Amino acid sequence: TSAPLSNSTAHWRALDAAHHLHPFSDTKALNAEGVRVITRAEGVYVFDSDGNKILDGMSGLWCSQVGHGRHAIVDAIAQQLHQLDYYNTFFKTTHPGAAELAAAISEVAPAHMNHVFFTSGGSEAVDTVLRMVRHYWASLGKPEKHIFISRRNGYHGSTMGGASLGGMKPMHAQGGLPIPGIIHVAQPYWWAEGGEMSREDFGLYAAREVARAIDEAGPENVAAFIGEPIQGAGGVIIPPANYWPEVEKICRERDVLLICDEVICGFGRTGRWFGAEFMGVKPDLITFAKGVTSGYFPLGGVIVGDHFAEGFIEHGGDFNHGYTYSGHPGGCAAALANLKIMHEEKLVDRVRTDIGPYLQERWLKLAEHPLVGEARMVGLIGAMELTPDKATRAAFAAEEGTVGLICRDFSFKEGLVMRAVRDGMILAPPFTLSHEEADELVATAWRVLDLTH
Ligand code: PLP
Repeated sequence: TSAPLSNSTAHWRALDAAHHLHPFSDTKALNAEGVRVITRAEGVYVFDSDGNKILDGMSGLWCSQVGHGRHAIVDAIAQQLHQLDYYNTFFKTTHPGAAELAAAISEVAPAHMNHVFFTSGGSEAVDTVLRMVRHYWASLGKPEKHIFISRRNGYHGSTMGGASLGGMKPMHAQGGLPIPGIIHVAQPYWWAEGGEMSREDFGLYAAREVARAIDEAGPENVAAFIGEPIQGAGGVIIPPANYWPEVEKICRERDVLLICDEVICGFGRTGRWFGAEFMGVKPDLITFAKGVTSGYFPLGGVIVGDHFAEGFIEHGGDFNHGYTYSGHPGGCAAALANLKIMHEEKLVDRVRTDIGPYLQERWLKLAEHPLVGEARMVGLIGAMELTPDKATRAAFAAEEGTVGLICRDFSFKEGLVMRAVRDGMILAPPFTLSHEEADELVATAWRVLDLTH
């Protein structure tokens, strides 16, 4: 028997305010405002404790590829935990789920990538590549190759390594970051930073900033370049088409490894299994998390290319790194059941050929709204830039600087989760979104823009 909803909201809010510290939040401000309590989810909707039904336009936190309430995944986790709740993968042991999942991921990964290291989430995956890559170069007799190149306004997680590789200024301002050995370069954010340049010229310019950084540091000192195929948390920044191939060429010419952080793009978000394929490049390593389990259980990892794996396995010896929950049986069962659904329902194809194009066509029309400077979307990942002046792409004045947040709050009240980044709104709905739900999503977005305007 469940307690009456209205009383419960006040109860949970009070407990939360008294005891719960939230990630990426100002606790004082949050407590004054009153946190929203989400109690249930089904399909593409979440429900709050007051009974409001809200379209989950962010797939939780970019993770719910197959949608909410999938009993097959829940049952697979339960069955696995009844059979084997936990054992480690450290000491000369594995378990069927870990072996099967490593194979299943190799199956959908780019053809040249066939080994997987497991973590509990994305930040740990990023820390893993940091250590793995440096260890690789040291094992090959090149320990001086240790510098990582990453981008300003990139997001690579919240651990010391991840937040350092990330280029988020507010994160670097806290906790003594970034750690040494990282160079941040320009991001391929044409709308905000392209100036008078064409998209294509700007794509080449941003890629050549990578070359410049490597050459200045000396390629003999540079281990790897890491970037998100599409920057997610930075504002769904879809680079010009020539950017990634040029970055790949630059890295190859300088013997610098290429790492795609696919924590958001991986497992179908762009309409390909991996964003690297969408961008037309072959990375040496891929970090993943989120969509691999559709969020039903925490699991992430690193997919390793054959060339890298060969050197790493042949010369690396002991890799002194790992997590208690590397290859947790529950996570592996969730991922296997999730991938089964994605295969059976052909969800990646659906994103590429059906619901992706359907939503894109309608989403891009939002650029006709007086407040929207640009609307962009590929696969099921998109953004719109709000501006008071479309011609100059001006930002709102500082006192209006919360326009994105105002828009987000209207959105929530109107029954749609979108996320605010600066003056932009971003979107990444589940792959199971129906055409009717896409229509509802876009109609709500129009309504929300009118309210914000
Ligand atoms: N890398 C990217 C590209 C991400 O978007 C995220 C999270 O959003 C992470 C890493 C960190 O993943 P996690 O939050 O699972 O640690």
